Amino acid sequence: MFRKLVTFEEAKELIWQTLQPKPLGTEEIPLLEATNRVLAQDAISAIDIPPFSRSTVDGYAVKAEDTFGADENQPSKLKVCGFVAIGETPRVTVAKGEVAEIVTGAPIPDGADAVVMVEETEREDDVLNVYGSVTQNENVMKKGADIKSGETVLLAGKVLGSREVGVLAALGNAKVKVYLAPTIAVLSTGGEVTEPGKPLPPGKIYDINAYSLCAAVWESGGKPIYAGVVPDEKVPLRRALEQALASADIVLTSGGVSVGPKDIIPATVDSLGKPGVFISGIAIKPGKPVTVALIGEKPVFSFPGHPTSALLNFFLLARPVIQAMAGKVPTELASIKAVADRRMFSAKGRRTFVMVQLVLDEVKGILAEPVESGASGAITTLAKADGFVEIAENQQFVDAGEQVRVWLFKENA
Ligand code: AMP
Ligand code: MG
Repeated sequence: MFRKLVTFEEAKELIWQTLQPKPLGTEEIPLLEATNRVLAQDAISAIDIPPFSRSTVDGYAVKAEDTFGADENQPSKLKVCGFVAIGETPRVTVAKGEVAEIVTGAPIPDGADAVVMVEETEREDDVLNVYGSVTQNENVMKKGADIKSGETVLLAGKVLGSREVGVLAALGNAKVKVYLAPTIAVLSTGGEVTEPGKPLPPGKIYDINAYSLCAAVWESGGKPIYAGVVPDEKVPLRRALEQALASADIVLTSGGVSVGPKDIIPATVDSLGKPGVFISGIAIKPGKPVTVALIGEKPVFSFPGHPTSALLNFFLLARPVIQAMAGKVPTELASIKAVADRRMFSAKGRRTFVMVQLVLDEVKGILAEPVESGASGAITTLAKADGFVEIAENQQFVDAGEQVRVWLFKENA
């Protein structure tokens, strides 16, 4: 197959134009199972929260003005007219000169506009000595103070975590409408690649990529399907790819995209349907031979076998597509500014991504140190890296001491 490298920017544009990723639909699921799912409609409160003005302390509901001027030497003497039970409408009304006993979370009774803490009082039968004054609304959480009826509290596209689940529960929801999570089949290729959990024969290596990619798929909002390891042979490869396409919304493969005799992935993918391969190589480092195809409606990303290249390609190219299909509001990777700890070279004419570790230097601030080993084959490169620095195609190097932006392997919240 003819190879023409496109630039990184062209590749992103082509991927967006060709794949036009959109959410796949919605489903209603129990809120208890909604963690990490993506909200499919704005959450609008139908109630005030709290639904009634309530006490934030244990004590006595009063008219604030009845306590004005009270202090340790001159307590206000007020009459206890009853108590407010928690969890029901108050049956007492507080008149001038009166108080009603109240506990944290109970509704403020009519007539009262503040609560004195029990610690500030002393009770003798139904007379209460109040040793300090309170202002209006003191120790009261007003109805709707947290959330007002009609208020939009979460926007569609939000990923649901513990805090968002709590908010939805506060609105009274036991179920929630979320986007369908796209399913992503992940296939490794190569006669040397062995599934973890099996013995490792001589000359073989364990499959890193399918595992790291499945984890990255979860992190991006997709649902991975581990599709195993296939040798670089046409017939089994074709069969595995067909099966992956039938079972998933997107297919990811790794290995077999270079120019060696065993690198039959691009041609095999291309033969599976139209429009076929539309990117065969991007002017980036690492990850140059990456191939992207559309088979019918289904995107296929084929990454090189080097674990760092595969995962970096995923972050740069596949992750935004999965996020969009998952209904997530697109987010950039999180980034921070740092100072280059030494000169970092780029590959001529290619957008270069240098894996770096962040180190705090007391004088220079946060330093970006390139992770040693450089070879994109080493998984330790990735494990040690906190992120990567991007060097433009026309730039020869970033010099030591220059400020750089370090992209982290996680999303902006
Ligand atoms: P390839 O892109 O198939 O030429 O592979 C490049 C390098 O990555 C070779 O050293 C492979 O053994 C290695 N490799 C390929 N696939 C995997 C995998 N799934 N896990 C770990 N290493 C791999
Ligand atoms: Mg291979």
